[in-house]
Amino acid sequence: MAKQLICSACGHVGGGQSKIKGNGFIELILWLCFLIPGIIYSIWRSSSRYKACPSCGSTNLIPIDSPVGKKLLTDQGKTLEEVLAEQKKAGGSGITMRYVVFALLGLIVLMGLINLV
Ligand SMILES: [Zn+2]
Repeated sequence: MAKQLICSACGHVGGGQSKIKGNGFIELILWLCFLIPGIIYSIWRSSSRYKACPSCGSTNLIPIDSPVGKKLLTDQGKTLEEVLAEQKKAGGSGITMRYVVFALLGLIVLMGLINLV
């Protein structure tokens, strides 16, 4: 289970959303035109992964089991136990659609290259 985080900007509690720097469109163009820069760009993007609040986009996420996180929860009138029980009910989100799309695009590009040869 992902570590539970609280957003210090809006108070949203959750796992946080994985965000990566860069642009998916540029990545796609690089892959289509020049294979090597595409690979380099993809590696750079995946190394720049960071967590952001899925509700407001803020990167000020604090673990809810830390003293500051607990204080933020108390300010909202919630307890750590309540939030954890809530999260358990909600369940996991599964694989992101984004990765499925990228896998398909990669496959299409690969098939195009094979046809060229
Ligand atoms: Zn937020």
